[in-house]
Amino acid sequence: MALLTLDEALDMIAERFAPTAAIETVPLTVARGRALAADITAPVSVPPADNSAVDGWAVRHQDLPGKLRVGAGRAAAGHPFAGTVAPGEALRIFTGAMMPDGADTVVMQEDAREEDGAVELPGGLKLGANRRRAGEDMHAGEVVLRAGRRLGAAELGLLAALGIGRVATRAPLVVAIFSNGDELAEPGATAGSGRIYDSNRPMLRAALTAFGCTVDDLGILPDRRDAIETSLVRAAAHANAIVSSAGMSVGEEDHVRAAIEARGALDFWSLAIKPGRPIAIGHVAETPCFGLPGNPVSALLTLLLVVQPALLRLAGFAAPPPRRVPVIAGFDGRKKPGRREFVRVNLTRRDDGALVATRFPRDGVGMLTSVIETDGVIELPEATETISAGESLQFLSWRALGLT
Ligand code: AMP
Ligand code: MG
Repeated sequence: MALLTLDEALDMIAERFAPTAAIETVPLTVARGRALAADITAPVSVPPADNSAVDGWAVRHQDLPGKLRVGAGRAAAGHPFAGTVAPGEALRIFTGAMMPDGADTVVMQEDAREEDGAVELPGGLKLGANRRRAGEDMHAGEVVLRAGRRLGAAELGLLAALGIGRVATRAPLVVAIFSNGDELAEPGATAGSGRIYDSNRPMLRAALTAFGCTVDDLGILPDRRDAIETSLVRAAAHANAIVSSAGMSVGEEDHVRAAIEARGALDFWSLAIKPGRPIAIGHVAETPCFGLPGNPVSALLTLLLVVQPALLRLAGFAAPPPRRVPVIAGFDGRKKPGRREFVRVNLTRRDDGALVATRFPRDGVGMLTSVIETDGVIELPEATETISAGESLQFLSWRALGLT
């Protein structure tokens, strides 16, 4: 089968997957971490009115500098002044108070000297100094958040500032997960001889939860096609997606592949990437299925690079490509052309401030220590054959890749 480049695979994902998660209008307290389901148009301006940015004196700019009469009354936050500031007059004002009629500028209290019903104010201020304008943050009628945005602390604060208490979101995507292999033992139990602990499932669960999904854990499924089929069919009835690891090759002990093919369809995407090559994308009934490689580091990288964008789309999130940062190669190397390689590296800062990437010495696809002990990966493009110390490379931090 022809190898698929990562970019081709991501284009196919963008074409194939659209949001399926239900739209739910929920209070802000429930919305955290969800995808916004529709653009938000500001219903009001923020701030709603001109107001003071400091404690001080509200005046007409043309009266500065000067010794002004102290006006009767005051303007405080939540207590607007009802009158008008007259020419030659200064009105006591506090941070957040609406600008009183007549005044256009506020002099900070630290710069004023009050004495016998008058206040001495300096010059040198611009017209409108210390005044926040109505709508300087957001204008009524303007689109302030786009559908697909993840609702985090700042987004929820912004919605609240607009007086919005409930918001149309996508319900969290329900993702069923399972591991496969008779060699796998549950962490916390005794593994016994010839067995290893299931590391992929806890890793997957944590990553998917951080993406904003709700995880339905189907456990460890044995190397038996009938058992896998039963679980797949049951999961397909309620989950929005199914993600599994291992059992996807063509060996006679690779039963996940056979089970999905028996109950739905499976496409094999042989990705031209290292690590992480084979990934299976298919469906059981209407539910998309993603089969990750068994080796933990391959599973993790394919999850982050390929499956994450698909799940984020299904969940209704805008899924921009992860941010790449240029760094400097701290090593020489060779690579096979025709596939994109992700090399685990650590970054150090050189005297001139540039970031230098050092290759992590152990790069086995089963070694999770190579993830724990590195900052991220550098991306070597398909065409690259040699890497020379000092050249510029693209770096992706684990965090940028979605690992939190
Ligand atoms: P497979 O794709 O079934 O041939 O598995 C490839 C490799 O990944 C084998 O060495 C498996 O033992 C290992 N592996 C599969 N699933 C897991 C898992 N859930 N946790 C840790 N290692 C796994
Ligand atoms: Mg296996």
